[in-house]
Amino acid sequence: MVNLSLKDAHSLAVKCLLANGCDEANAEAAAGRMMQAEGDLCASHGLFRLPWYCSGVNSGRVNGKAKPTIEQLAPAVVRLDGDGGFAPLGQEIGHHALVECTRQNGIAALAVTNMFHIAAMWPEVERLADEGLCAMAFTASYPYVAPAGGIKPLFGTNPMGFAWPRKDAPPLVFDQASSAMARGEIQIAARDGHSVPETAGIGPDGETTTDPNVVLEGAQLGFGGYKGASLAMMIELLAGPLIGEFLSYESAADDAGKGGPPKGGELIIALDPAKFGDAEGFLAHGEKLFKAILEQEGTRLPGARRFIERKKTPQTGIEIPDSLYDTIQGLM
Ligand code: NDP
Repeated sequence: MVNLSLKDAHSLAVKCLLANGCDEANAEAAAGRMMQAEGDLCASHGLFRLPWYCSGVNSGRVNGKAKPTIEQLAPAVVRLDGDGGFAPLGQEIGHHALVECTRQNGIAALAVTNMFHIAAMWPEVERLADEGLCAMAFTASYPYVAPAGGIKPLFGTNPMGFAWPRKDAPPLVFDQASSAMARGEIQIAARDGHSVPETAGIGPDGETTTDPNVVLEGAQLGFGGYKGASLAMMIELLAGPLIGEFLSYESAADDAGKGGPPKGGELIIALDPAKFGDAEGFLAHGEKLFKAILEQEGTRLPGARRFIERKKTPQTGIEIPDSLYDTIQGLM
């Protein structure tokens, strides 16, 4: 493993993206988002993605010099056009528009469109909760998950994020795939020679397996059987047809086997709790629930692991496999 400080890892990512056709603004935004993931020890959205991102720009699909724009579609609906670039730069612009719109209306939605690889949901919802808002986010990806009872990939691993503001603590955040495992975790298991649980997916003929390579050839499964599959379907609709964006299988067709990150959309909904009837009491009321959860032995709040890691990594740095480090060096 290669140990890198977060600063050096950030510089490495920026340098690599600049060498592969991104301009400064797009490289900085994409690298910053990868470092947020690395800093929270979420390797599947960190430097692991960099070669994939570079292949997206090099194939001509991703616009490394994107200039995202926003448009007000209705009093409480803002549309962000990512200009075919990576998501983080546009999301930054969309965030400010969504906060303003939510404060005015009590509730507002941001339709994020025309972007590549909307990675993890927590950065968007967490920073909305940092502004005192409650937030949800959804995105589709490539077809990896079979519908309940089926064996062919159709839905993305479609994540959903939720955040709730807290007064004297970081926001309550959960962010989870609607599949039993995130795709990146299965790819990492395959790379590192680990097995995956039987619930993660099936082989090409629907056979049971714990081999991540066989799951990658077959189909992933929704978490909790048909319930996870229904959530994946809902997210396809919210982050696809609702906002005029691709379904997961349409995104794969658009990629046409080039193998870069998925193009698609994201729906972010924000609510201002101060406008829902208990402006004075909602924070303390929410804390009662968190206290009751934590009173039970064996519990923790979702997001708590992330905040613990985030405090450590500025000192410890991060580790990436030698093979990934060499691949990145080879891209520059
Ligand atoms: P995990 O299963 O690792 O975690 C899901 C959530 O559950 C997290 O918020 C986690 O909090 C929380 N959690 C975990 N264990 C506990 C526990 N014991 N008690 C309470 N809460 C707990 O996430 P996934 O593998 O499903 O997804 C990983 C990432 O991949 C996400 O960021 C997701 O957005 C992303 N993803 C992106 C996709 C895309 O197409 N763009 C597709 C699928 C996933 P904590 O962080 O504190 O551990």
